Amino acid sequence: MNCKADLIMQKFSILQHLPKAKLGYLPTPVIKLENLTRVLGGPDILMKRDDLTGLALGGNKTRKLEYILGDTIKKSCDTVITAGAQQSNHCRQTAAAAAKLELDCHLLLGGEKPANFNGNLLLDELFGAHIHFTKENRKGEDIPNLVDTLKASGHSPYVIPYGGSNELGACGFIEAGFELSTQIGVDNLSNIFFASSSGGTHAGLMIAKSLLKHKYELTGIQIDKAENEAHSFQQQVAELANSMCSFLNLAQSYQVDDVVLDRGYLETGYGVLTAQEKEAIQLLAKSEGILLDPVYTGRAFAAMVDKIQKRELPKDKQVMFWHTGGAPSLFAYSDSML
Ligand SMILES: *Cc1c(COP(=O)(O)O)cnc(C)c1O
Repeated sequence: MNCKADLIMQKFSILQHLPKAKLGYLPTPVIKLENLTRVLGGPDILMKRDDLTGLALGGNKTRKLEYILGDTIKKSCDTVITAGAQQSNHCRQTAAAAAKLELDCHLLLGGEKPANFNGNLLLDELFGAHIHFTKENRKGEDIPNLVDTLKASGHSPYVIPYGGSNELGACGFIEAGFELSTQIGVDNLSNIFFASSSGGTHAGLMIAKSLLKHKYELTGIQIDKAENEAHSFQQQVAELANSMCSFLNLAQSYQVDDVVLDRGYLETGYGVLTAQEKEAIQLLAKSEGILLDPVYTGRAFAAMVDKIQKRELPKDKQVMFWHTGGAPSLFAYSDSML
């Protein structure tokens, strides 16, 4: 074994003691977007296809759920609870994983019950999840009450945090960063772009990058406006990465400035589909036959294309887009899509 492979194997071992539920079909492919590279006349564009993780139409939450549900099973819980928006990809993948592992699943989704179930919401129903519409409580505020009710009826519930982004879930993205380094040489990569929203993808990739001493910039495109300016999203990602390091007994630590987050594309707010997302979705669909989603990857991909068009990226290097999934919600946006 050469010394690079040695280093990677040695790093993988930091995750080996954690229980895992096998849910994904990994590794996901890395491909070249040759047509788009030609159309944009920019650097070579690569894509990491985490839209193809294989669980229930795929997406980045599969990797987090492998670790979180490994813990659920280890603790002998029989029910999982999580929360999100009505078109949450995290909730859809949680519902599917729970079905596969024969766990009950309760989803707390913001807003009112809609007349029609579409996109991810339709899939949640098909996977047999118990769906609660929680009106203005959009981030799981009602979970403690539900936990009490379920316990009183003899269940042992396990609460999965918003977006699956805790110390355990984000380990899936340390693994993902290691996985990438077994697939391609990264020395010629200038940037990896991805949509960043609850921070687990970001924190995990950041730790893998520093453990492997990689040089590319991890450029998170921020999707939500931070609700709390005193505690910025950048700070939250750094804190998550630091608590993962203590959880895994790793020596390094992160400052706010280590987290690269671009806030330049979120002006319209979460889940609002504008020309920027539509053009990006159509561009990739028509040039490569690959689907993006209206909420996350459409926005992040638009950001990367914008930077390529403005010649902000070195042309002699490669860039990568980390596709985090989400296409099922396209169907829920059909009215505003075309
Ligand atoms: C959840 C999600 C993200 C954001 O990932 P975080 O780890 O929550 O930051 C990006 N893209 C898609 C499609 C998602 O569902």
